[in-house]
Amino acid sequence: MFKAFKVPKSLKDRPFHYCPGCHHSIAHRLVCEVIDELGIQDKSLAIASIGCSCFLYFYLDIDIVEAPHGRGCAAATGAKRARPDLVVFTYQGDGDFSAIGFNESFHAALRGEKITAIMINNTIYGMTGGQASPTTVPGQKTTTTPQGKDPNYYGYPPKIAELLSNLEGVAFSARVALNSPKRIIEAKKAIKNAFLAQINGLGFGFVEILSACPINWRMDPVKALDQVEELTKIFPLGVFKNKVETKKKTD
Ligand code: SF4
Repeated sequence: MFKAFKVPKSLKDRPFHYCPGCHHSIAHRLVCEVIDELGIQDKSLAIASIGCSCFLYFYLDIDIVEAPHGRGCAAATGAKRARPDLVVFTYQGDGDFSAIGFNESFHAALRGEKITAIMINNTIYGMTGGQASPTTVPGQKTTTTPQGKDPNYYGYPPKIAELLSNLEGVAFSARVALNSPKRIIEAKKAIKNAFLAQINGLGFGFVEILSACPINWRMDPVKALDQVEELTKIFPLGVFKNKVETKKKTD
């Protein structure tokens, strides 16, 4: 019998520890589907970060290295330069990638490292209790901005996907969301292109994924989907750079 939907080979068959309604599990699944489709399970190396997804090795059936907080792209750079035959990617949160790790992330992109970076943007530090991160949006209440984030005091949220798309070394940069089936399909396509940017030797591949954190947003999972939609007004979805498609057209 034809099976239209099955657990990806590179995803371990075990329950996720994430909170109900968290989008990490969807993102994990999409990454694994892409790994299966590209046939790279045996040569993939993930760099896990510090945050709710630090247990990435519980779920992805590939080689995984844990990097200190924010050092994902630096660790990925070392791994890829030592083993250029591997497909190396980071899986980081917005705090990890765009706050404590911004310097490493930015310079890896600037150098055009042939790695892929996936940033889960839920506008908050999830694992440590919902503190504000740089991507926390104006007015958002967090445990460190209980009155709502005042951008005049804390600054405005950075648009990382657009920012990186301006760098010469970046071959693919996109922002996607996981709050509807259509968006999930688009997200998978972006993840695949971010991997292809690396596999085709074009440069740094990046995907920012707007994701729900219902627990720290203090709302139920369904309401959190609407909140992700609200976030798209501040973080517009789109593909901001795509050398993968350009290459296909010129080949
Ligand atoms: S705290 Fe937020 S990001 Fe972390 S597992 Fe729970 S819902 Fe997901």
